[in-house]
Amino acid sequence: MDIKAADQKYIAHTYGRVPLVLTGGKGSVVTDDAGREYIDMGSGIAVNTFGAADPGWVQAVTAQLSALQHTSNYYYTEPMAKLASLLCEKTGMAKVFFSNSGAEANECAIKAARKYSFDRYGEGRKKIITLRDSFHGRTVTTLSATGQDSLHTYFGPFTEGFAYVKAGDKEGLAAEVDESCCAILMELIQGEGGVNVLDQDFVDFAVELARKKDILILVDEVQTGNGRTGKLYSWMHYGFRPDIFTTAKGLAGGLPLGATVFNEKTGDVLTPGSHGSTFGGNPVCAAGAVYVLEHLDEELLQEVKEKGDYIRESLEGLPDVEEVTGMGLMIGVKLKKDLAQAVTACREKGVLVLTAHDKMRLLPPLNIPFPVLQEAVARIKEGIEG
Ligand SMILES: *Cc1c(COP(=O)(O)O)cnc(C)c1O
Repeated sequence: MDIKAADQKYIAHTYGRVPLVLTGGKGSVVTDDAGREYIDMGSGIAVNTFGAADPGWVQAVTAQLSALQHTSNYYYTEPMAKLASLLCEKTGMAKVFFSNSGAEANECAIKAARKYSFDRYGEGRKKIITLRDSFHGRTVTTLSATGQDSLHTYFGPFTEGFAYVKAGDKEGLAAEVDESCCAILMELIQGEGGVNVLDQDFVDFAVELARKKDILILVDEVQTGNGRTGKLYSWMHYGFRPDIFTTAKGLAGGLPLGATVFNEKTGDVLTPGSHGSTFGGNPVCAAGAVYVLEHLDEELLQEVKEKGDYIRESLEGLPDVEEVTGMGLMIGVKLKKDLAQAVTACREKGVLVLTAHDKMRLLPPLNIPFPVLQEAVARIKEGIEG
């Protein structure tokens, strides 16, 4: 079968494909249909937390797959209960709702924030403030929440009730925090927007302002979560705990799973019948996530920091590099030369990298062995310089 031709013919053209058919992988290395190996510095966009086919993860997932692949949410299952316990115990949060993706996790957070406000204050407090250059998903409502005008086309009418503020703009934020506002939703490190780390000062300001007015702080940890930045969740770097945070991407290590995680204040807002999902918390995906969370220990998180520092130190100051941004193993590299060309050059040298906005983006598996990382960085340097 001509895979590329069939894909082009039969799959809707929503993605600009890289001309590569991937057929397998082991750890941080993936293989194409010609048997060529690539170091994967994207992890399927921060999804394959422990790389391809991690043996312990495969065992955890397949054991559950062989026992029971799915049941409805009318019944209890152990993986789901265990995963929710882990998420709450490791974060100090109170309750979890499971879905299948980042967009759905955010959709749930948005619904819960509005209902929290409705339950306490009645109608009229619906506005959710989000940030410019944010990304929160592809459903109509999460697109509305996304602060990028270029994505607010074609699909209207969009969901009302979002206001956008530039990251760092305290005055702009204060002006939007009025009687009609129920929540502030933000990524602390904007992923798709170009790996922009929010200033501590701005985050402190937002949290304090929100607390005074009982406005909820929602943190989108879809990309930053599950160890990616060197802490379990990125809000742990900032010294506060959100009212709700969402995660997905790397949570189950390569299977579709979203989680909306609530604190004591918001944990009981959603009541029977007010929200749901057929697949959400599927036991196979949950078993994968239990494995991931159980293995994201302090030692591994420390390694994430060290590997991130290594990448930054290696690329910073190169003649063709303008700036390196990010935290842990979530890194953006702004080049002084053509980005697309550099990405292609990297691929030709045997390393897969991503882009975000105007930067090269690196999101390697968290357990990438140091020698493999060194080789990847050497190839990226060649790709950038080439
Ligand atoms: C990827 C992403 C989403 C959307 O997740 P999907 O699983 O594609 O729906 C939402 N927020 C952030 C920060 C993301 O990086």
